[in-house]
Amino acid sequence: MTADPVQISMMELADLGNPRRIACELHRQIRNQYGSVPLRCPLDGIAKAVGIVGVKDIDTKAFEGTLVIKDGKGAIGLRSSQCPVRRNFTFGHELGHFLIPSHRLRKNDFRCSSKDTSIRSSGKKSITTFEKIEIEANEFAAKLLVPDREFKQERRKLGGLPDVTHIRKLAGLFDVSQEMMAKVYIDNDDDPCAVVISKDGIIKRPLWSEEFPFLGLKKGVPLPYGSVSAGELNKAAGHHTEVEEIDAEVWFDRPQNIDAVHEQVIIQIDGWAMTLIRVEPTDPDEEVDDSDWNRRTKKWR
Ligand SMILES: [Zn+2]
Repeated sequence: MTADPVQISMMELADLGNPRRIACELHRQIRNQYGSVPLRCPLDGIAKAVGIVGVKDIDTKAFEGTLVIKDGKGAIGLRSSQCPVRRNFTFGHELGHFLIPSHRLRKNDFRCSSKDTSIRSSGKKSITTFEKIEIEANEFAAKLLVPDREFKQERRKLGGLPDVTHIRKLAGLFDVSQEMMAKVYIDNDDDPCAVVISKDGIIKRPLWSEEFPFLGLKKGVPLPYGSVSAGELNKAAGHHTEVEEIDAEVWFDRPQNIDAVHEQVIIQIDGWAMTLIRVEPTDPDEEVDDSDWNRRTKKWR
């Protein structure tokens, strides 16, 4: 990246209220300046350009991140012992509070806990105003750190069908957590995909794309008997399987409209594992066998 400081026109941001649109506008302006958004998002440069006068790492257990706004300028504090990918996300979250107009109208002193910086929209109807602004700050941070165009370019370079090892590579390139990248990865695939994060064989977080069939699996239950993942738990960190087709009933109680299910797992440190499940749905309009090939491979080649 060039040494020129990031320049952001606040005029262009002024009318935007949607967190993702604000992040996309920042990307647009950065692309205009540099040609593309650097894969490691220039958070310090953006902060300076939008009116953050100081960013400090603070040795504290009281919060993950804090933002204080005074006379239109902001100061950000970040808990110093956060790992780099977590720090990036918290930094983006506090920038979100600063840039989303409705947040600064509500208050000018934010202290955000680890719960605040991890809350996601769950579709439940009643959320408090305070939960809403934390969710919005997280949506902003996620979008800011992984710009659409640059993600798609890097995903295309990896080519082919979904592969769990891509998630680790892409997380490293964009300096974000593998969990966060997993969600971006499955949301961008043509086929319905899910990622199941487990520890010691117990599911900790299932993530799925919008069109993924109901998985029926919840946090706290064991990986299903007969799954590829359940059979690989004793392998060393870094080990991963190839993509394998597996009986749909292993993962789904009542598989419907599913042509095939593919599973792949990567073993991580301390008993963690990440499983990628890809479903080939039955296409009701499919008339010739090879149309499926076209549909699944069009995007990344
Ligand atoms: Zn917050």
